[in-house]
Amino acid sequence: MMRDLILVRYGEIALKGKNIRVFQKKFYKNIKKAVVQFNDVKVIDQFGRVYVECDSEDLELVIQAVTNVFGVVSVSPAIRVENDIEIMEERARQEVERLRLEEGAKTFKIETKRSNKGFPMTSPEINKRVGGYINQSIPEMAVDVHNPDILLTLEIRNWTYMFSKRYAGLGGMPYGSAGKGILLLSGGIDSPVAGYLMARRGMELEAVHFHSYPFTSERALEKVIDLGRRLTHYTRTLKIHSINILEIQKSINENCPSEEMTILSRVFMMQLAQRVAEEVGGKCLITGENLGQVASQTMEGLTVTNTNVDIPVLRPLIAYDKVEIIDVAKKIDTFETSILPYEDCCTVFLPDRVVTKPRVDKISASLELVDREGLIEEALARKEMIIISEGEVLTR
Ligand code: ATP
Ligand code: MG
Repeated sequence: MMRDLILVRYGEIALKGKNIRVFQKKFYKNIKKAVVQFNDVKVIDQFGRVYVECDSEDLELVIQAVTNVFGVVSVSPAIRVENDIEIMEERARQEVERLRLEEGAKTFKIETKRSNKGFPMTSPEINKRVGGYINQSIPEMAVDVHNPDILLTLEIRNWTYMFSKRYAGLGGMPYGSAGKGILLLSGGIDSPVAGYLMARRGMELEAVHFHSYPFTSERALEKVIDLGRRLTHYTRTLKIHSINILEIQKSINENCPSEEMTILSRVFMMQLAQRVAEEVGGKCLITGENLGQVASQTMEGLTVTNTNVDIPVLRPLIAYDKVEIIDVAKKIDTFETSILPYEDCCTVFLPDRVVTKPRVDKISASLELVDREGLIEEALARKEMIIISEGEVLTR
């Protein structure tokens, strides 16, 4: 069985100073989890570099899996040889010849990075020697230092690594290195994107979804589960706490000014999510809110929701334009699901007119008109949990 080696580069983790080992370990573990399904795959953590060794027939899929791990800047399939100039030049020749035959390359350039200063030749000397050797032995290939078809890099460390291709990763920080956040996951376009962006910064996600069954349908919940499934592409597992807020909405509808329906529901959502955070060790709430997009997302609306919870509310999309959000949604493959036309709990009891500039004191007064604690306890008592792992729903 032919084997291949993949060199994994990470960026920002390297800037982490004293904590670097903690981040590196998390990163290494996450890479291992991402490739565990492949036969005979080996992940090597060596001198601040990660290498993945796999069967050649899995190479493409392994590259795909690794580039989806947060923290990866880029990966390159690489050839590893001893630090011996004759072995290096011959193996480089074979590789250039292979690319000439397989991809029709006509020009090349050798680039050397000598991290191992114990190697007796300088980088320019190595370039000249290996380049000259290839130039002589393959008459069809010409050197082009400005725009070569093949840029073959030789990296001299404890071994010499050669590579000519680079696949971009997603960047970010290792998943789980920044504590846990509670994602308020609706069926819309924004919240999955918000969750993805925070996950990419290393935050572990646990989700809360609010519905108004039977006013909202089973299919609307299925849609949210499908979004969760898609997020596990990056998070591996995801728990979704599903909470019915119909009784809360009914009570608001009966007792409070009708134009405050949306903002009051939102306050309850935040408080319920905070309770879930307390229960599972979440350090913040994450929403897909975006300044000025809808009536409830004015600065005044955001102030009201903020003052009604004690933990930070992170809103990674606050300054995004809708087209930018949609771009990310398409990239992470949640867009098509998000635009399915199922009803949302926010549309239940929707009044004709909504307050766009709610006042903190007025909203607080309205909250006194309902049995706030009782409603919250009752909703939490009937909370359900959905666990998704690697795209599969485990429990419902
Ligand atoms: P989205 O596309 O994420 O639904 P939106 O632009 O439709 O966002 P809203 O419906 O006002 O905006 O919701 C703002 C945020 O509040 C959402 O991004 C989400 O984080 C949270 N939210 C709204 N509805 C729900 C729900 N049913 N369950 C969980 N969170 C919700
Ligand atoms: Mg919505």
